[in-house]
Amino acid sequence: MRLDGQKMNIKNFDAIIVGGGLSGLRAGLELSKKWKVALVSKVVPVRSHSGAAQGGINAALGNHPEGIDDSPKRHAFDTIKGSDYLADQDAVMFMCEEAPKIVVEFESMGAPFSRFEDGKIAQRPFGGAGFPRTCYAADRTGHVLLHTLYEQCMRQGVSFFDEFFLIDLIIVNNKVSGIITLELATGKLVILRARTVILATGGFGRIYSASTNAVICTGDGVGAAFRAGVPMQDCEFVQFHPTCLYGSDILMSEGARGEGGILVNNKNERFMLTIAPEARELAPRDIVARAITTEINEGRGFEDAYVHLDLTHLGAERIKERLPGIRDIAIDFAGVDSIEAPIPVHAGHHYSMGGIGTKFDGDFCETSLDGLWAIGENACVSVHGANRLGGNSLLETAVFGRAVGRKLLERGLPDSIQQTEIEKAEKEILNQINKLFQKWELNSGKKPVEIREKMGETLNDNVFVFREEKKLEKAVSELKELQIEFENMVITNISTPENRRYNYGLLRALELRNMIDIAEVTAFASRWRKESRGAHFRTDYPSRNDEDFLLHSMVLRNEDGELGMQTKPVKLGIFEPKPREY
Ligand SMILES: Cc1cc2nc3c(=O)[nH]c(=O)nc-3n(C[C@H](O)[C@H](O)[C@H](O)COP(=O)(O)OP(=O)(O)OC[C@H]3O[C@@H](n4cnc5c(N)ncnc54)[C@H](O)[C@@H]3O)c2cc1C
Repeated sequence: MRLDGQKMNIKNFDAIIVGGGLSGLRAGLELSKKWKVALVSKVVPVRSHSGAAQGGINAALGNHPEGIDDSPKRHAFDTIKGSDYLADQDAVMFMCEEAPKIVVEFESMGAPFSRFEDGKIAQRPFGGAGFPRTCYAADRTGHVLLHTLYEQCMRQGVSFFDEFFLIDLIIVNNKVSGIITLELATGKLVILRARTVILATGGFGRIYSASTNAVICTGDGVGAAFRAGVPMQDCEFVQFHPTCLYGSDILMSEGARGEGGILVNNKNERFMLTIAPEARELAPRDIVARAITTEINEGRGFEDAYVHLDLTHLGAERIKERLPGIRDIAIDFAGVDSIEAPIPVHAGHHYSMGGIGTKFDGDFCETSLDGLWAIGENACVSVHGANRLGGNSLLETAVFGRAVGRKLLERGLPDSIQQTEIEKAEKEILNQINKLFQKWELNSGKKPVEIREKMGETLNDNVFVFREEKKLEKAVSELKELQIEFENMVITNISTPENRRYNYGLLRALELRNMIDIAEVTAFASRWRKESRGAHFRTDYPSRNDEDFLLHSMVLRNEDGELGMQTKPVKLGIFEPKPREY
């Protein structure tokens, strides 16, 4: 096959994993025991966003003196209650039972966890958890786990495709046959073939104008799956982290409250004592984020913009040992030394509970497209439901990365597809992408950055901590208009591989192609869900409504180009839905 007058670069594998974060690496490590695996990442894997995770990973190890009665079932209960009963209970139970094994596996691979005096892995309290069960490596847990897994994948000979950008999936009769990528260093389109593709492309926080997420978190896997007809599930559930650093939105880990940090308003009141008398600052994130936002909205914040996260009473020694990264960030970005003064914080976008829809009757992480699987933050498995507990996401990535790898090896290689059909589908997609690039060059509309900024502001202003019909309606219609502007968007200098080399203008446009769909679905699903549950709080429907909305939302684009809503039952059966009290 030829493109731009050059022979197409095509490579064959048993499986392709898109994403070099914790979930992708863990799946790669498992699958490469028997299969030929390609691991594709738009950045060098150790720069994946998993490396930013600070606080820790949950597992009922019972190492903490106050945690000896902890168990996987108690972990599952906390997770399901925290999810406001929207999580699929079989998936949660599986994750919590695997948790101690996955942490011990990390330890045996050499992950340098912080330890108690007796040598056991240290654990700290985290929000919404009945026991101190979050294992950590100071406040750099994601960094050490990412490096540990990367080393193991290198040792095992996983084939890495660093700085290759997934553009689209290639599909033959509802079966995945591979992916088409842009090789950033050469500007060439490269096809990778495999009958199994695992999407592990991380979150999509950058659809909001301010987020704790890195700029690479643009939901590329979610966008590609959606274009291929896989629904987006539960995208209305957006986690706003209670403690983002005022001014830069960098995360101040929940570990800071886990170590004893308190939240104080401008009247020097510890307001969480009234909101959640038992859990206090360690209530689930949705509750603390709403409490902080209410303090600010009702005039009890500082400069009408933030409250204080006070660590000063912890003492210099503990802060330096347990929260060194938090201290450095607050000094560098806010000029505040947390040993001496409180840190200014407010709620900000942090995590996406929703993502690529998974099949009701399939294995965990399996999608409706034959051969396509989704793991990690880009997937909606769903173990977090309407609100994720801190420390459960790192856990999800490794547990389901390993589980999908094991499941695929157990199932064996899927049936092959006829070569002629694969080539036909590849030619079609190459044509489409070529036409897209030509159209973008010929257009005379706005630049990607202008559309992206407007998209982020629309979500920040209208689909935030507190939501209501009018604002959601506004977001839906503004995002529809932005879709039209996106169609007319202009990018120059992308017609040849030479001028596509490390062309970040093109990259931002390809990312926007994914983000704009996710943003539209987020607003659409938020308007549809006329109840308050977990992180989705509607001031016009302030109660949870199990009768009408104990359902997963599944959004698809209809043939007429409009968004349509389907639903999927929540898997219950272990814990009866009850009102949440903390
Ligand atoms: C600041 C911060 C702190 C956090 N702290 C914690 C914590 O303490 N505990 C916890 O449990 N959770 C935490 N989380 C959440 C957790 O870190 C993430 O949910 C998790 O690490 C995501 O892992 P992942 O493997 O799904 O994706 P990521 O680690 O985000 O990796 C995504 C991968 O996909 C690749 N990719 C993306 N798009 C493309 C494309 N188009 N083509 C090719 N490759 C692509 C990227 O290059 C990257 O390798 C935190 C999150 C943030 C933002």
